[in-house]
Amino acid sequence: MNNQNHRITLAGTDQFFECANDDVLLRSALRNNIAFPYECNVGACGNCKFELIEGAVDARWPEAPGWTAKDRERRRHLGCQSTPRADCTIRIRPSQHYAPIHRPKRVTGTLTSRRPVTHDIWEFRFELADDMRFEPGQYALLTLPGVSGQRAYSMSNIVQGSHAKVLDFQVRRVPNGRGSNALFHTLATGDEVGIDGPYGMAYLRRDVKRDILCLAGGSGLAPMISIARGVAADPEMRGVRLNFLYGGRSPRDVCGRDMLEALENFGELLHFDAAVSDAGGEQWGGHTGFVHELAESMFGDRLRDMEIYFAGPPAMGQAIQKMLLAHGVSFGQVHFDQFY
Ligand SMILES: Cc1cc2nc3c(=O)[nH]c(=O)nc-3n(C[C@H](O)[C@H](O)[C@H](O)COP(=O)(O)OP(=O)(O)OC[C@H]3O[C@@H](n4cnc5c(N)ncnc54)[C@H](O)[C@@H]3O)c2cc1C
Repeated sequence: MNNQNHRITLAGTDQFFECANDDVLLRSALRNNIAFPYECNVGACGNCKFELIEGAVDARWPEAPGWTAKDRERRRHLGCQSTPRADCTIRIRPSQHYAPIHRPKRVTGTLTSRRPVTHDIWEFRFELADDMRFEPGQYALLTLPGVSGQRAYSMSNIVQGSHAKVLDFQVRRVPNGRGSNALFHTLATGDEVGIDGPYGMAYLRRDVKRDILCLAGGSGLAPMISIARGVAADPEMRGVRLNFLYGGRSPRDVCGRDMLEALENFGELLHFDAAVSDAGGEQWGGHTGFVHELAESMFGDRLRDMEIYFAGPPAMGQAIQKMLLAHGVSFGQVHFDQFY
């Protein structure tokens, strides 16, 4: 396809940006520093919908669960799935909240190593051809061989100093999942993939110095590990206490402790606890139940005084939000990007 740029104008403003026809409106807007609201970036959440006033777009993934028949009737489209076919005028509700700290870019990453974390989570390291700075807790989109669309994976490492050419991802193998299985089985070390990032709003708020609670479930390990590493590495966050709670189904799912133990202040300011929902017949000396129940029993109303980050499957996210609401926690102090 010949690359061609189209001009996208934001209705009711004097703002516009150029979007190439191999890019999508949402990501191109963010590359141009326009605060386009979004969350998942993979067609599921629907937060990046815009109204098409003039022009034409193509949907990369017409079956995306976040795009309904009613949306089509009302000329509403998903920013993360729409490529421009002509110059367009669109209506969005920009919010400074979404202004990118680091403008996302497209780079090439080479798989340089992989290692098991649990029986179904592996860590994959990519070295990048070009720098990609990001905040702890953010994610990137991977274009994987033989997989249509891109997959979102959170970085588990942090950028230290000028070193911004490595991304580590901790990925859970989903039975029959095309993206995760491409990483586990198709990709070999030395292979290159396209990586686009960083994205995400659930990044470490460095200006807030209250105690931190990180809740991770299943595949939500990586962004929470990145946040803990970010706190430990930041001299300005010295003195901040961080509790890390991991929730798994069974004892063999529990992970993350060794990564936290490697950080300064483990056992003093940094604490790890885990809960499993079903210990089955396995030996388990820890908590039994869900991770939101563990958080509630450990902190109760003290949750109101904490900065809270969480990542994991949608059901876990919903249970956490419900519990936090019941304790009167303000949503300004809660940060998450729902995994889909
Ligand atoms: C913000 C965010 C961060 C995430 N971080 C992690 C992480 O750190 N570790 C981890 O293990 N998982 C993470 N995930 C989940 C991950 O992105 C995948 O959903 C998961 O690996 C399953 O993908 P799959 O391809 O194996 O499964 P599949 O069932 O093949 O694919 C499911 C996912 O792919 C999307 N999809 C399917 N078809 C298309 C298409 N044609 N075009 C575009 N999208 C399509 C779906 O919306 C869904 O998200 C994250 C998800 C999000 C949204």
